[in-house]
Parts: sequence; structure tokens; C-alpha cells
Amino acid sequence: MSDNSLHIAVIGSGGAAMAAALKAAERGARITLIERGTIGGTCVNTGCVPSKITIRAAHIAHLRKESSFDEGVSAQPPVVDRVKLIRQQQARVEELRNNKYESILHDHTAITVLKGDARFVDAHNLTVRLNDGGEQTVHFDRAFIGTGARPAEPPIPGLADTPYLTSTSALVLDTVPERLIVIGAGFVALELAQAFARLGSEVTVLARSRLLSSEDPAIGDAMEAAFKREGIKVLRQTQASRADYSDNEFTVHTNAGTLRADQLLVAAGRTPNTEALNLERIGVETSNGAIQVDGQLQTTVPGVYAAGDCTDQPQFVYVAAAGGSRAAINMAGGGATLDLSAMPGVMFTDPQVATAGLTEAESLEQGFNVDTRVLELENVPRALVNFDTHGFIKMVAERDSGCLLGVQAVTAEAGELIQTAVMALRSGMTVQEIGDELFPYLTMVEGLKLCAQTFTKDVSQLSCCAG
Ligand SMILES: Cc1cc2nc3c(=O)[nH]c(=O)nc-3n(C[C@H](O)[C@H](O)[C@H](O)COP(=O)(O)OP(=O)(O)OC[C@H]3O[C@@H](n4cnc5c(N)ncnc54)[C@H](O)[C@@H]3O)c2cc1C
Repeated sequence: MSDNSLHIAVIGSGGAAMAAALKAAERGARITLIERGTIGGTCVNTGCVPSKITIRAAHIAHLRKESSFDEGVSAQPPVVDRVKLIRQQQARVEELRNNKYESILHDHTAITVLKGDARFVDAHNLTVRLNDGGEQTVHFDRAFIGTGARPAEPPIPGLADTPYLTSTSALVLDTVPERLIVIGAGFVALELAQAFARLGSEVTVLARSRLLSSEDPAIGDAMEAAFKREGIKVLRQTQASRADYSDNEFTVHTNAGTLRADQLLVAAGRTPNTEALNLERIGVETSNGAIQVDGQLQTTVPGVYAAGDCTDQPQFVYVAAAGGSRAAINMAGGGATLDLSAMPGVMFTDPQVATAGLTEAESLEQGFNVDTRVLELENVPRALVNFDTHGFIKMVAERDSGCLLGVQAVTAEAGELIQTAVMALRSGMTVQEIGDELFPYLTMVEGLKLCAQTFTKDVSQLSCCAG
């Protein structure tokens, strides 16, 4: 590698930054990657990985306590040892961080890692305040910003003076609180609310409007019903006006009354990590702190690119990584774009929530003449043999052509079935074509075929192996 090769400064080491650095290296660039915290960023350390481990453990605890087969298979409330669960969880986090981030960076000769806090001096220079002391200037041809986001602190009087939990601290909390209040009604809040309830907490969720308010309303209703079945209290249209902590107890004042709990989890959105970067100085525009990027992931400053949670794009690690790799292609002279039109979204509750493409409301807003169907899970053989028929699959199609526009699913393993919907959306399939495909019998994904068939048939009248 010559010193004349393109030099790219990559800020961060999460999903976006790693993808950008590796793709840029593959294209012959020299990379200086700057990370101020733990290598790997949110997903592996404090996000996807530990949360999915906690959720899985909580799911097992729940099944031991109760399942649809309790009459024939005896149930018994489990004894939860949170310290041991966290030890097991963190060992897997460390293993994945090492295998998927640290060793890869270590072995890559084109990538130099600097541990420190980066900020722009101008459109071709950064200063890095090194964690070990001192400062270093990094001159670059192109820069990539992948600085992610952190839990937002809503402006609730008194909150900042309390030792409230964020998703980060909740995931390593070594006790199961007796009473837990959750402020927030998005994916992160609901995943953790249900996990703690299943580990043994009495949970109350405060939703400013309703659960999952940006999704099709039927999804929030189904999740509220699922939470109610498990004894999780959901307070809709409820806002905290003050929070206090004394004598080991949180007090939260709301328009629905005063609530008390042993722990308070605040999971009400995430704030982009952009303030420390000096972006105004070089002219990178932001909106509410989120970096604005164009279709090729370039910011408002030529040569400076961004992706992931620090931008205005959806906060999923695969979106961050796809954005990072496409930005790298473009920094090296390419013209890659990121198409999010069929993007899947999954919430790992039970039942899971999974979406792809447009909702009915979005389709109407975009001027489509739409036709929709909702298939209740009583019509899905997999749900029947599971003795768990709570939930639904909804399909949105263009009325004249029958082309699929979007899918929303609230089912067990919805996260697995949604990718089939994504493929159908990507290839422009019609509901007729989906209904004519072979789907394996007794899988949840067969619900997609059955839902597609309801556009032309009464599925309840079909024989079990609907052809
Ligand atoms: C609890 C939880 C569960 C989640 N579960 C899922 C899931 O199941 N599936 C999914 O797809 N997504 C999930 N997400 C979202 C996912 O984790 C994020 O979308 C993704 O990790 C964002 O990656 P990123 O590269 O943009 O940022 P990050 O991974 O946050 O990386 C940013 C890095 O930049 C560093 N940094 C910031 N500023 C500077 C600076 N000035 N100088 C140097 N370094 C800096 C930070 O230290 C950090 O390491 C979850 C998130 C949370 C919080």
C-alpha cells in the first residue's frame, strides 16, 4: 500500500464504520479508524447482542413458568439468577466483539486504529484527543462519520438527578427489580419491558400516545393485548411530568397518577452522537442532531460521508452496515445507492413484530389505490399446532396490479418470515404469485401464502394443504 493511496478517516467502530473501513480497504484505500469508546459500538456491546440474549433467557423463563402445553407438561416458576445470566451474556458479547471486530481490525494492514475522540478542524483535517493523552491531527482525502447514537434523556423535571436505567445499564443490571416502570413505547422499550416482566418484574409501560405509534395501529393493539395477557400494565396517553428518587424508590408523576417502582427504565428514543464533531464548522448539516445524507450517503460537504444511527436513517445495524459499505464504494469513486424501500424491521418481543415495505397509511399517502387483507392466526396451521393463535399477518397490495406493497406481521418468529416478504417486494411479486408459490407446510411463513390467497379466496374453506 503506497502513501499515495486514498486516505479515508473513519470515525467510530460500530456496524456502519466497520463496514465502511473494510469495504474501503478492499478498494485499495488506507484507513485511519478512530474510536473513543469500546471497539464494536452499540450492536455487539450494548444493543442487539446483549438484548437478544436477555430476551432469549427471559423467553425460556416464561416457558418454564407457563406454556400452551402445561396440562401435559408440568410448569414451574423458574429461579432466575441474574448474575449468572449476565456472566453468560457478557462472555458471548466479548467473544463476538473479539471475533467480529477487534481481531479483524488487528489483522487488517490497511487499517490503523486510533483510540480517542475525533472532531473536525476543516473539511480535510480532524484532531483526535487520544484516550492515552495528547492530541493527533489526521489529514484525510475523504471522511466517514459513523458515530452512532445514545439513549435520549427526555426533558422530565427531576429525571436527570435520579439513577434511572437506560437500555445500556438495564442490560447489565444484576438484579431483577420487583417493580419496574418503563418510559417509552418503541422497539427497545417494549423488548426490555417484556424481558424484565418474564424474568419476574412487575412492569408498567408509559406510552406518550400508544405502543409503536409509527406502525400500523393494529400492531400496537396486538402488542398491548399480548402484554396484558402477561400482566404487563400499559398506560396509553401517559406522560411523566416529574421523576424523583429517594429511599431506594422512584416516584414518577404522570397525568394518570403517581407511580412508584424500584427501577425506572427510560427508553424514549436515541440521540445522534454529533455535537462533539464540530460539524457546523465544516458545513455538515444536521436536523435535530441527525446528519443529513443524500442517496449516496454523502453529507452536505463533498467528500464527507455518513451512515448509521448518527444520520436520519432507520436505526438498525444492517441499515448502518449497508450504508457504510455503500459510502465506502462512493468515497472510492463509485456511485452506489442505498434502497430502503423494502427494508425489514423486527421487534424481538413475543409475539414478534416484523414489517417490510409500506403500511396501508403510507401507501395511501403515496397515492396508491390499495387493497389490504388481514389474516388472523387461527387460519395458520403452524399457529394452531403451537396452540398460540394470537396475532395476524397483514398484506397491502396495489389494487389494480395486485403488486405487493407491504407486509406487517405480529406472530411467533415474525422476524424469520419477513425476509420472504422482502424478497417478494424486491422482485415486484403480485399477491397472486405469492399465493401460487410452494411454502413448506407447518411453518409460520406459510401464513404469507395464505394471507396472499385471501385476496381471492376464503382461506377458512381451504383444505389444510392449500395448493
Ligand atoms: C437495546 C438495543 C437493541 C437493539 N437491537 C437491535 C437488533 O436486534 N437489530 C438491529 O438491527 N438493531 C438493533 N439495535 C440498533 C443497532 O444497535 C444500531 O442501529 C447500530 O448498532 C448502529 O450502528 P452505528 O455504527 O451507526 O453506531 P454505533 O454502533 O453506535 O457506533 C458508533 C461508535 O462511534 C463512537 N464515537 C462516537 N462519537 C465519536 C467521536 N467523536 N470520536 C470517536 N468515536 C466516536 C462510539 O463510541 C461508538 O462506538 C438495537 C439498539 C439498542 C440500543
